[in-house]
Amino acid sequence: MRHFPVFLNVEGRRILVCGGGETAIAKLRLILKTSARIEVFAEGPSSQIQEWEEAGALTIVRRQPLASDLENAAMVYAAHGEEQPDRKVARLAEQQGVLLNLVDDLEASDFITPAIVDRDPVTIAIGTEGTAPVLARKIKADIEDNLSGSVGLLARLGAGFRSRAASLPEGSIRRKFWSRFFFERGSQALKIGGEKGVQEVLEQLYSEIENEGREYGRVFLMGAGPGDPDLLTVKGQRVLRDADVVVHDRLVGPQVLELARREAIVVETGKKGFGKSWKQEDINELMIEHAQAGATVVRLKSGDPSVYGRLDEEIEALNQSNTAWEIIPGITAASAAAAEIGTSLTRRGRNSALRFITGHDINGFAEHDWVALAKPGSVAAIYMGKRTARFLSGRLLMHGGVPDRPVTVVANVSRPDQEIHVTTLSGLASDKMPEGPAILLLGLKPNEAIADLEFQPDTVDLKQGAF
Ligand code: SAH
Repeated sequence: MRHFPVFLNVEGRRILVCGGGETAIAKLRLILKTSARIEVFAEGPSSQIQEWEEAGALTIVRRQPLASDLENAAMVYAAHGEEQPDRKVARLAEQQGVLLNLVDDLEASDFITPAIVDRDPVTIAIGTEGTAPVLARKIKADIEDNLSGSVGLLARLGAGFRSRAASLPEGSIRRKFWSRFFFERGSQALKIGGEKGVQEVLEQLYSEIENEGREYGRVFLMGAGPGDPDLLTVKGQRVLRDADVVVHDRLVGPQVLELARREAIVVETGKKGFGKSWKQEDINELMIEHAQAGATVVRLKSGDPSVYGRLDEEIEALNQSNTAWEIIPGITAASAAAAEIGTSLTRRGRNSALRFITGHDINGFAEHDWVALAKPGSVAAIYMGKRTARFLSGRLLMHGGVPDRPVTVVANVSRPDQEIHVTTLSGLASDKMPEGPAILLLGLKPNEAIADLEFQPDTVDLKQGAF
């Protein structure tokens, strides 16, 4: 982003437009919407500009600008549409440190004017960094079509109620008040009862929400899926967008966190590098404290929260403190990995059981029913198995596992850096494992339709292969 969008306060400040022809007029049409003091520098201003002056909308200075004219201006437009006089204005702007727009010259300009949807005070600015004005105009037209004409008036009327609404508890309760006003009741009230109707609806909503508000504050124990935000449930996306507080594990992908509001408090609890490591009790306390203060808390765990996510411990703490909670499932790493390698986790005639196992548990290397796991046709999704790959391989071979049974390791499932490594039970002991969190799929190999694979220990980037 080379151009950072901001809304500049120009109330009462000077904006200079240098030039008196069509180029200047086009810019003036936009600038006249502001409450700035507009000065046009033009020796021979067109009749349109003169009319604007007569109407008191701007002042004309019938000469070229001098350096002193630019002093303390908010911005200046070089809008002669001619190289020489525009360059001169650019030099003056540079001397005076005033923000310059040289019309249709991206490189020479400090700022560019976006396409604007104007529903004052609601203003939408669309920019393409000068690359595609046609696209900007199309987006503007689409937004104009979809945005009700009354939105500006509603915003203005709502603003008058802001100080009263400020006495509602901050966070989701207050947001609920405004979202009901803008999206459910406001425009209807305006249509039927005009401005008075809107005032009444604001009062009504206020008492409704005030009464409801006392019941709110809860924790959503939510699965973030393996990383790709498209793999979140619709409900999960909605809840995350509404959250006041997001408490997440290290494995939760940054793209998922992007969905949270910018004002939300986002806390990472995982240990990374020299970062702070959180105790389970501290996490519980954090969630409870916020929820009891009326906040919507989203406890985000990678994959599905019920799979190796210490979910029960958190539920217990929430129950003990009488905090309301709800679980929102997510796509666990095993399902997402199976999808990526184009295969089924169960299959008639091959495996009627599917095991989720972990490479290590609180006691270190985890013990399992190795005999059953080693049987031909058995399928298991092994979580946290990378560091215990040697141990797993040894145990399975010892209990009758065939050395060339397939094992597929999928790291960073569904993320841009996903890696698929196809190996065997014996290869597992010596292979270099891919970087990042990985799931080991014992007894499964990628579908041949996805990549034309020779089944041999190798790292295969399927994403660049046959897709
Ligand atoms: N609740 C999670 C599992 C948490 S345990 C789930 O349902 O997926 C952590 C382990 O999950 C990691 O060691 C790894 O084995 C697996 N895992 C989590 N995210 C992953 C991802 N994006 N890609 C591959 N494996 C992942």
